[in-house]
Amino acid sequence: MPVAKKKNTVKKNNTLKLKFDTSWSYDPAPESKSAATINKQYDLFINGEWQKPVSKKYFNTINPATEEKLSEVADANAADVDKAVKAAKNAYEKVWKKMPAKERAKYVFRIARIIQERARELAIIETLDGGKPIKESRDFDIPTAANHFFYYAGWADKLEYAFPNRKTEPLGVAGQIIPWNFPLLMAAWKIAPAIATGNTVVLKSAETTPLTSLKLAEIIQEADLPPGVVNIITGAGSTGAAIVNHPDVNKIAFTGSTDVGKIIQRAIAGTDKKATLELGGKAANIIFEDAPIDQAVEGVINGIFFNQGHVCCAGSRLYVQESVAKEVIRKLKDRLESLIVGDPMDKNTDIGAINSKSQLDIIHKYIGIGKKEGAEMYESSCRLPGKGFFCRPTLFTNVAQSNRIAQEEIFGPVLAILTFRTEDEVIEKANNSPYGLSAGVWTDKGSKIFNMTKRMRAGVVWANTFNKFDPTSPFGGYKESGFGREGGLHGLLPYLNLQNI
Ligand code: ADP
Repeated sequence: MPVAKKKNTVKKNNTLKLKFDTSWSYDPAPESKSAATINKQYDLFINGEWQKPVSKKYFNTINPATEEKLSEVADANAADVDKAVKAAKNAYEKVWKKMPAKERAKYVFRIARIIQERARELAIIETLDGGKPIKESRDFDIPTAANHFFYYAGWADKLEYAFPNRKTEPLGVAGQIIPWNFPLLMAAWKIAPAIATGNTVVLKSAETTPLTSLKLAEIIQEADLPPGVVNIITGAGSTGAAIVNHPDVNKIAFTGSTDVGKIIQRAIAGTDKKATLELGGKAANIIFEDAPIDQAVEGVINGIFFNQGHVCCAGSRLYVQESVAKEVIRKLKDRLESLIVGDPMDKNTDIGAINSKSQLDIIHKYIGIGKKEGAEMYESSCRLPGKGFFCRPTLFTNVAQSNRIAQEEIFGPVLAILTFRTEDEVIEKANNSPYGLSAGVWTDKGSKIFNMTKRMRAGVVWANTFNKFDPTSPFGGYKESGFGREGGLHGLLPYLNLQNI
């Protein structure tokens, strides 16, 4: 087990400061690519089989850590979407809605088990295609995706207990559009509750991370799911729009940017399509002076820097009580220096590659804005790989509430730090945001936690922890972070019509 070497540095005022030496290193521990098979080209998974796109077009998906091409995937157009929706509608009418719930459950359990069996391969592909550290995809994304299928498989034949004295009915065809930050997990969040409740699905993955959705299509084939129950297609925004606008789609489930969420809401206005939208966030992480500071610092690091800040619920705004601000900022800066940035396939890496060049440009733009706004920037002194899209973990102090870096979603490893004196002040500041997806509170006092969680306008408030997920707990936003809940018993509702018996 390699040990971090420390060096002593003497500060100007002659106080001795123990600092991590940024040159310390762990031996490389790369995961092997050979445990995963990626085809040269992928077609569309429609009606249980691989179909060439009507569009005849394909686009490349690359490894953002090396900029090398991994594969090419079909670019579905409106005619392809129409084929997928027809297959889903047919499967819904003829097979899936008629199937006894306990039989449906068996398929969902089977998918969960195969994901577990193929976990290593899926983790490798997630990391190659998306740039996130292998320890994140191995320890979080893939197991949590399997857990979602297990969890909703369990509900399939127990809906009468979930909603006592109500008759439940599926909605029909669900059109599901997912982003690039948790590709397989988002597919699981969407597909598992939909099919467990008797709906059929057309899912479109994000254009930069299509590969694990396509692997999931292989798994669905292996699980022998009846053809058309789950259709998985690839493409960009226009493919997503074709799903949203298709008249035979009964429900839209979308996770992505607030801008696209607004487009979708406008598109379905006046139709009887149901929707759940999980959009952007600018989570406030709040440290009170009575908090266990070291744990809080680690929680802040975990909340914004792990996974490159590519999390809509990332704790991107930190509010620290004034009396401990100096200590917290010093510890955060020290910790920034010890974060390992680099090859996502290395098991020691904390911060992998930014998902795409365009996302890296957005992050750099915001770092420039922060500097222009007069905030003070501190970035890790780590060396970045010569190729690929990487960004140093960065924090800003002296940030004003009105600064754009404190108001807008950056979706990168950039933390804005603000201070406060009283509980009322921090609630006012934390809620002063167009978003309301998540928040965190760090304090020793249970009463303070309850007071804060009651008054914060955020769908999830973590207390003395951050970014913890479990299939049994609902997730979703307030305000411009969207509406509807995914996960838990609440996550069944958006896929059902309830009637009084
Ligand atoms: P992000 O900023 O996270 O990439 P987007 O909202 O741009 O978020 O993308 C999320 C998903 O929405 C992707 O699968 C993308 O292809 C899809 N998408 C983009 N534009 C549209 C649109 N106009 N209608 C439907 N889906 C869209």
